[in-house]
Amino acid sequence: MENEDILHNLSHIKERINIACKRAGRKPEEVRLLLATKTVPPEKIKVAFDAGFTLIAENKVQELKEKYEALKDVPHTNHFIGHLQTNKIKDVLKCDVACIESIDRFDLAEKLNNRLQLEGKTIDVFIQVNTSQEESKFGVAPEKAIELTQQVATLSNLKIKGLMTIGLFSAEIEKVRPCFQLLKKIQQEIIALNLPEVEMKELSMGMSSDFETAIEEGATIVRVGTLVFGKRIYADSYYWNETAAK
Ligand SMILES: *Cc1c(COP(=O)(O)O)cnc(C)c1O
Repeated sequence: MENEDILHNLSHIKERINIACKRAGRKPEEVRLLLATKTVPPEKIKVAFDAGFTLIAENKVQELKEKYEALKDVPHTNHFIGHLQTNKIKDVLKCDVACIESIDRFDLAEKLNNRLQLEGKTIDVFIQVNTSQEESKFGVAPEKAIELTQQVATLSNLKIKGLMTIGLFSAEIEKVRPCFQLLKKIQQEIIALNLPEVEMKELSMGMSSDFETAIEEGATIVRVGTLVFGKRIYADSYYWNETAAK
């Protein structure tokens, strides 16, 4: 993808976000565009930074580490959206990640909290929910999401800010929408519990193929990669599939 194409894509997506917000009766400022930068080289990411798009996220710790050095001189915010193995916790924390969106099990949360305690730091986290119930996807099962949130809330160095999901893989958008509605419903249930120290403002949902629908259903962060940087060579299963991630 040429630099000017990236810039064009970014402004086009921004426009589509604005239109989706209008349709949903929401303010465009309520929705942040996060750039999913897996496989994208640092030079291309910097093009987006220069245009003012500075919220990015990686899926793999190795890739995060490689790009961190190249990008650290340009102010930006890093989230982590991939499957996190506990033996990579130290590495992820070295890269100044502001938020880990993919907390999907208590043992990961606990080990992350232990490490943060040692380092005297805190980090923002989202609970990742497998709203599509597809086996290939990570995330806590919807019926266990509240329990996991309550458990993670007891860990003082993790600051829960919201929920994340990957919608169903389907070209039929009306089959994807219920995933987003379910995440919103779980969010509302957690808010009603009034858990101390738990904020539930953020809903990270929606990608290139479904971000407008996610906005209609309440997304505060949409995660877009392909529409900005072009098609990737690796299939997403390389990043998402349980066996591939091992
Ligand atoms: C790759 C990825 C995205 C962005 O996907 P696109 O279809 O390229 O927009 C969003 N969320 C997660 C977790 C991803 O791995």
